Amino acid sequence: VNMLTWPVATVGWVTSIVQQAEASQRRINEFLKEEPQIQNPSNEPEDVQGAVAFKNVTFTYEDTHITALKNVSFEVNSGETLAIIGKTGAGKSTILELIGRLYDVEKGEILIDGKDIRTMNLTELRDSIGYVPQDAFLFSDSIRNNIKFGKADASEGEIVEAAKNAAVHRNIAGFSKGYDTVLGERGITLSGGQKQRVSIARAIIHDPKILLFDDSLSAVDTETEEEILNNLFKISQNKTTIIVSHRISSVKNADKIIILEGGEVVQRGTHQELLNTEGYYKELYLKQLSEKEM
Ligand code: ADP
Repeated sequence: VNMLTWPVATVGWVTSIVQQAEASQRRINEFLKEEPQIQNPSNEPEDVQGAVAFKNVTFTYEDTHITALKNVSFEVNSGETLAIIGKTGAGKSTILELIGRLYDVEKGEILIDGKDIRTMNLTELRDSIGYVPQDAFLFSDSIRNNIKFGKADASEGEIVEAAKNAAVHRNIAGFSKGYDTVLGERGITLSGGQKQRVSIARAIIHDPKILLFDDSLSAVDTETEEEILNNLFKISQNKTTIIVSHRISSVKNADKIIILEGGEVVQRGTHQELLNTEGYYKELYLKQLSEKEM
């Protein structure tokens, strides 16, 4: 396996897990235990277009026996955006992890372009995914290298474009050393929202067919969030985007929205359809409207 062909997805997955270390050592143990069980069934190249479908997916974490997903089905086509809303523990992150095949389903199947992902070349599957975790993982290195991590041979123009699309270029340009600004122990500390945006730039420069955002706009103000979502809309016409969020403002323009509760899809529709239905989505909308989060 050529590690350089694995940039975003793999590092995103691993580091997101490292990030959760304090919160959940259990998750790491599970991950390390599970990984070898995932076999790479194919060395054939895959021409991933990005359509994602869950068909009656049930999944239980082996160590805790928690059934995180129960009979979950949805379809999202290339060019479309699916949003997943639900409380903590509803199973949202698990859906994203299963798409990256960190675990295999217990029942049902996950299809990409109509193909069961268990039959696909694992490296290429993961390489087709850009995963942006909630807690962005950045290296103690320059901002340029942090973004380039998504594409080792990226040109300066590509780096700037990705940063612009992630609405972080202006911040970077405002630093005296610009893209050479070093982060972390040896350098400056970015705000939570700036970190998330650098992490988004890293994912989009990789130009994956499938973009997964795990609450990755949570620390960004709503105005900047809207700017990023508009940019994403433009660059993701031939991509599949899945956005996990707590905020209605992040999901209201999605083509499809599903609401998860206790691992089950309890509501689905567009923003307008869901506002016309009594339920969690409408309650959340009214609550956030009164808090002026939108
Ligand atoms: P959400 O992203 O909606 O907050 P998760 O998908 O993280 O929900 O979690 C769904 C359920 O699965 C929760 O009950 C959680 O405690 C459990 N869970 C999540 N990850 C693991 C894990 N690695 N091992 C065991 N149980 C887990």
